[in-house]
Amino acid sequence: MTERKQRLEELKADLLGRLEKYAAHQHRDAGALEADFAEQAVQRQNDEVVDGLEAEVRATLNQVNHALARIADGVGDQCESCGKPINPQRLEALPRSTLCMDCAE
Ligand SMILES: [Zn+2]
Repeated sequence: MTERKQRLEELKADLLGRLEKYAAHQHRDAGALEADFAEQAVQRQNDEVVDGLEAEVRATLNQVNHALARIADGVGDQCESCGKPINPQRLEALPRSTLCMDCAE
């Protein structure tokens, strides 16, 4: 249990680091005025890719925070949906999981 919490904390730090990088990227792009239209188009595509990655990271971060909150409440091992214990192997493979195998499907 402690190990899982530690893994989640590490994952959280990693995700926050990525969000910072994305923010720096978007900030730099906003400041750069590209004269060439083709370059602008490429820039916009990059921005969309980064936006997509950022949304993914944010969604994962929400799951990590949610799992950490449940651990703090002492129900980290219980399925959020049916209340049964979550298979330890599942938690090992996916520490941010808050649903048992059956409910996740
Ligand atoms: Zn369940």
